[in-house]
Amino acid sequence: MSYLFKCMDVILPPRCPFTGELVDSPGMVSAEAWKSLSFIGAPFCHACGFPFEFATQGEALCAACLGEAPAYSRARAALVYNDASRDFILGFKHGDQTQSVVAMVPWMKAAGVDILSAADVIVPVPLHRWRLLRRRYNQSALIGKAVAKSAGVEFCPDALVRTRATETQGHLNANERKKNVRSAFEAHPKRLSVIAGKRVVLVDDVYTTGATVSECAKALAKAGAADVSVLTLARVVRPGRV
Ligand SMILES: [Zn+2]
Repeated sequence: MSYLFKCMDVILPPRCPFTGELVDSPGMVSAEAWKSLSFIGAPFCHACGFPFEFATQGEALCAACLGEAPAYSRARAALVYNDASRDFILGFKHGDQTQSVVAMVPWMKAAGVDILSAADVIVPVPLHRWRLLRRRYNQSALIGKAVAKSAGVEFCPDALVRTRATETQGHLNANERKKNVRSAFEAHPKRLSVIAGKRVVLVDDVYTTGATVSECAKALAKAGAADVSVLTLARVVRPGRV
């Protein structure tokens, strides 16, 4: 992949993945874009990673996780999903800006430092094969592969499969999302040895309500995963949720 990036440098000068401005090296972000990004740092819910406004003691949980423990053990995200990160992710998802992954890797490694240090394998949230054909690539798999390579963790792109095509979720509320993805994933029967007894990190681009990653985590647990954590580039943060 780095060879590909080097070749692309010769042809195309590196540009900021957010603003399109020329920058010094691939993966660099312009000063203007940097100001509009909001990185998630402590304090946050120890389980789902929801950022808290005030300092907390120990491994504090948010009200939602206290009410019902998530299907995964921990979820971490690098960025708040705001206008800047949304444009970036949409460009990455639909605009073939696959070189943007260079910028994401260090952010995701920093956000997921505690889960990546204990990880055995990184698994992306899968796309249904029809959607994969239309988009040509799975953005979660591209992110997962780059993070795995940089962190020195095994990567298994097809550990999970979608058992059915699901509606796109942009317009659905939390309950509808849950219903939409219920039992939509299972472990690939040929990849059970990669999952059973392993500490799995599930990678996706955005954590919205957690419905998709929760269903994936259930499928991984059913296949015998010892632990399932979640690492995403961005996370929706609704003010007043906690
Ligand atoms: Zn939480």
